[in-house]
Amino acid sequence: MKQVFTLFLVLCLTLSTVGLAHANEKDKVKQELEKIQDDKSAIKKDLDQLDEEMKKNRDTIRAAEKEMIKIDKEVAEIEKKMEGIKKEEEHYKKLFKTRIRKLYQQGEVGYMVSLLESESFGQFLARFESIRLIAKRDHSLFYNYVRLREEKEKQKKELLKLRKEQEKITAKAEKAYKEMLEDAKKKKGKLSELENLEMIKEAEIRRINLKLIQSNQLSFPYEGGPMSWPSASKRVTSTFGMRSHPVSGGYRMHSGIDIGGSYNTPIYAAASGVVVESRTSVGYGWLIVIYHGNKDGTPLYTWYAHSYPNQVRVRPGDEVKRGQHISGIGSNGMSTGNHLHFEVRIGRNGQAVNPMSYLK
Ligand SMILES: [Zn+2]
Repeated sequence: MKQVFTLFLVLCLTLSTVGLAHANEKDKVKQELEKIQDDKSAIKKDLDQLDEEMKKNRDTIRAAEKEMIKIDKEVAEIEKKMEGIKKEEEHYKKLFKTRIRKLYQQGEVGYMVSLLESESFGQFLARFESIRLIAKRDHSLFYNYVRLREEKEKQKKELLKLRKEQEKITAKAEKAYKEMLEDAKKKKGKLSELENLEMIKEAEIRRINLKLIQSNQLSFPYEGGPMSWPSASKRVTSTFGMRSHPVSGGYRMHSGIDIGGSYNTPIYAAASGVVVESRTSVGYGWLIVIYHGNKDGTPLYTWYAHSYPNQVRVRPGDEVKRGQHISGIGSNGMSTGNHLHFEVRIGRNGQAVNPMSYLK
């Protein structure tokens, strides 16, 4: 008897030591995982900021391009006007030249003849003067157009200067954008590296949890407070207690509550914990069981039923956080429509209790 007792003690010690070693290892991996997740959220924050700045750059480029289009239009208008002005300018220049030529040619030859033929010197002078006046008018019109053309040229030059400035703004924004794009690419690479590491660490934790579950040594205190509602749907279609079964028709105990919802309405973990089962099960269709730790020394579990396999997002050994999306509402198993069958079970024997007294 004494030997048996000793053996029992040794076994207990060994088991608890093994359990403790696993728990310590798990703590270490969990810390590493937390560090990875912190790094991940820091990078995500950086990426968000980069996104924001890139958006600003795009806006700057767009505004500059708009401005340039506006300037180009104005320049085109000025050029069109200038064409007209230049034509007028040419016209009056030619007229002026011709008249001046005439004035002097005829002044010397023709008007000398005119003078001789003139009945009076006054008549000659009048003729001479009228041509001189016309020439003067041509000349002043010509210069007016020259001035106008120069003014337009100056305007065009100023606009082109403005356009150059916009080009500079665009080039600068484009350069910054490219640099940020490069930076974002690097950060995204780092992020996916971290995501891989995260998966590895989660797998390690899952493996340790599975060992603890198999050796019946998974144990931690309940996080406290009431449980959270386990679905995005709040519609309770059947309560806990005795009822006539919707499928079998017999008067039977209903070990949980039913929450009706359309297909794939999210199912959430009611509290943080470890998934101890996630498997197909007759009647339940698919069954997910989460251990939430010990509350007042008693193990506390929640059960989630009727999902289809493709909706399930957790595996045995996974650590889940309160409110984590673990599956979707389905009608798999003994069920007459899409709903979540939710149970709260306590103790090592898993006695079903009324979930409503555990929920917020
Ligand atoms: Zn039910």
